[in-house]
Amino acid sequence: MALSRNEKITLVAAIISSPILTLVIDFFRSVPIFSTIKSAYYWTVDLLVSILTYNIQLWIVLVILIVIIVALGIYGNADSNKPKASQFNFLNYTTDNNIAGFKWTWTYEFSNEKNRYIISEVKAYCPNCDSPLRFKNDFLNEHTECIRCDYQRPGNVYGDMHRIESLIIDNITRMSRANVSGS
Ligand SMILES: [Zn+2]
Repeated sequence: MALSRNEKITLVAAIISSPILTLVIDFFRSVPIFSTIKSAYYWTVDLLVSILTYNIQLWIVLVILIVIIVALGIYGNADSNKPKASQFNFLNYTTDNNIAGFKWTWTYEFSNEKNRYIISEVKAYCPNCDSPLRFKNDFLNEHTECIRCDYQRPGNVYGDMHRIESLIIDNITRMSRANVSGS
């Protein structure tokens, strides 16, 4: 059965039924001139035609495709059987009952400037009633007091925020490490 050139082109397009190839064919049919690209396109189509109609039979191509698909499926399953990467999400760690002797809470804000999360709204809580602590400086009497009950202690619990943030970050590091090695 002798096929004309156009019949061969149509046959190849139908066999591959690739939307991309169809798009390419439509594109080149609608664009009249780009002779270099056009000849490259015809050369590619000729190559495909000779591959599909001459040397390699279609079933071999199909077998190869099936082998590739099966291999990809096995690889995908093997991949999903791997131990999951760390499931610890530090964004859920926003409270700790003992950092430097107090309960603390905080939030995370994404800083576009630093391109990372920063710890913010850090608050310490009263060991007696769990209300926030605040710093007071009354006539050189620097102390930390509870906003609700009469708890107070000398000094400023918020005096070294860098240390508190460092402890939070260190806890995050330790928890991620434990999570990874534990899985
Ligand atoms: Zn209190």
